[in-house]
Amino acid sequence: PHAWGMVIDLSACIGCNACVTACQAENNIPIVGPEEVSRGREMHWIRVDRYFEGPLDDPRLVFQPVTCMHCENAPCEYVCPVGATQHTADGLNAMIYNRCVGTRYCSQNCPYKVRRFNWFQYTGEQASYPLPAAAHNPEVTLRAEGVMEKCTYCVQRIRRKTLDAELENRPLADGELQTACQQTCPTRAIVFGDLNRQDSAVRRLSEHPLSYGLLENLNVRPRTRYLAAVTHPNPALASPGEPE
Ligand code: SF4
Repeated sequence: PHAWGMVIDLSACIGCNACVTACQAENNIPIVGPEEVSRGREMHWIRVDRYFEGPLDDPRLVFQPVTCMHCENAPCEYVCPVGATQHTADGLNAMIYNRCVGTRYCSQNCPYKVRRFNWFQYTGEQASYPLPAAAHNPEVTLRAEGVMEKCTYCVQRIRRKTLDAELENRPLADGELQTACQQTCPTRAIVFGDLNRQDSAVRRLSEHPLSYGLLENLNVRPRTRYLAAVTHPNPALASPGEPE
């Protein structure tokens, strides 16, 4: 089976937010105004956090895109009273929208705060991406007001591309399947793929010495990992040499 995962290189991310916009376009997520955001009703499925790193007199701003981590040991799954969030065979933390009764317990128990409650009347039907095989797939279509939703790792693309490969009787090539955020990132900071493939880029990067999982000490085993930002000293602040 596939084991989908993602690695985001924080040295490459420039915080442009293109990934956020691409996700909104791909997944038909409304752009909500500041008033709604101030009431805790933001809808984006990926956000770009920022923090400072390095010495106090020469800090560097680091951007950290945060998606659903598709945790292997997902804390959102066991608090749902109706089993509306569950793992798929290929390791996705999936919402079963038509089961959700809107308790939001999963959101409370998510350490990354990436789940979004649909306060607005809109559905997740994909306007721009053809989905003949997945048109009636509840993983894709049944988002609605009063139902929890979140990053799906672009499940519609996963289903479409894996089905295409199956119909053509060939294995899916590494890199053939890209999430919308990955496809749009101008610095190629996001790499998505199959962790079960020995030769996949995502597997190689997830085993890189700089690779780490956010809040890894919680033992939730996130499938989205990061390459730690490599900080470069600012030459303008290098200590001046001895005067001649
Ligand atoms: Fe960072 Fe790429 Fe997202 Fe821009 S599109 S914020 S560079 S991950």
